[in-house]
Amino acid sequence: MMNPSNASSTHTKMMHCDLCGGSDFTVISELDRHGKALQTGLCRACGLVMHLPVPSEEEVAEYYASRYRADYHGESEPSPRRVMRAWNNGERIYSQLAPSLKGDESVFEIGAGIGCTVKVFETHGHSASGIEPNHDFNRYSRENLHTRIENTNLFDLNDANTPTLVLLIHVIEHFSSPRRALSHIHTLLADGGLFYVECPNVTGPFATFGRMFHYAHIYNFTPETLQALAEECGFEHVSTLAGAASPDIHMLFRKAEVQPAAAQLQLYASTVEGQIHAYNALSYHLRPVYLQRRVCKLWSYLVEGLTAGSFVSKLLKTLR
Ligand SMILES: [Zn+2]
Repeated sequence: MMNPSNASSTHTKMMHCDLCGGSDFTVISELDRHGKALQTGLCRACGLVMHLPVPSEEEVAEYYASRYRADYHGESEPSPRRVMRAWNNGERIYSQLAPSLKGDESVFEIGAGIGCTVKVFETHGHSASGIEPNHDFNRYSRENLHTRIENTNLFDLNDANTPTLVLLIHVIEHFSSPRRALSHIHTLLADGGLFYVECPNVTGPFATFGRMFHYAHIYNFTPETLQALAEECGFEHVSTLAGAASPDIHMLFRKAEVQPAAAQLQLYASTVEGQIHAYNALSYHLRPVYLQRRVCKLWSYLVEGLTAGSFVSKLLKTLR
């Protein structure tokens, strides 16, 4: 399945690591989670995991456009279950961040989806808005949730009214260049403003190896590679809000001065590779925490199915 020696020579000329600029990669997987061809590489200098080759911004945009055409015929309405889940997730994010906030932050979310998280921050007294490049639920956000979600792309945005808190929830892994995205966010954010990121943790127990990679996730971060990239783009680490046992990274940063590129990245590719393989299929599925989580999930699906309809109609009434 893997051919590391081939891989590094094949990609040396055309590929550069978005974190360290290195060009020496080990191919760690040739397949995506559905068994289709997808080459995933590990930068041997810093441990960043990414598609080989990395698709361009245009290819990524075309992927989402065609997925949209395949999934929806015209603008669709999210199901009550989807809205309830997004709302509860927004409340979870708010509770996690509240102890670090003063209460008067102006919040801006990049990749705001339906707009529930933006609306949750608004109901807790913040001014809040966001952008969502996909068309899926724009009308629903505007007309039902009464949120300010612009249908635009991060890189087309030159002014976001200088927010003091930017949220990037499960979005950073989709960029063609996360460095470019974080540098752009740095220019939008107010001086000393906060920047909160969530994304899957490739060294955490979020999936077994065979289920780990898919086209939409161009980059797979570890807490170390995410923090190193954020620091290079001018952010200082404030706190880590999810532990190593979590399937996701939750990290809060503050805007600082952009430092000259740090050449001292002390990340070791072999450590990352070892951690990625740590959860093989059997031990992963037999872990008590996994079983517990699975039972909770099945239970929550059942509860969601029974309660989502009335939850959402009550919510929309309140927001009116
Ligand atoms: Zn690298």
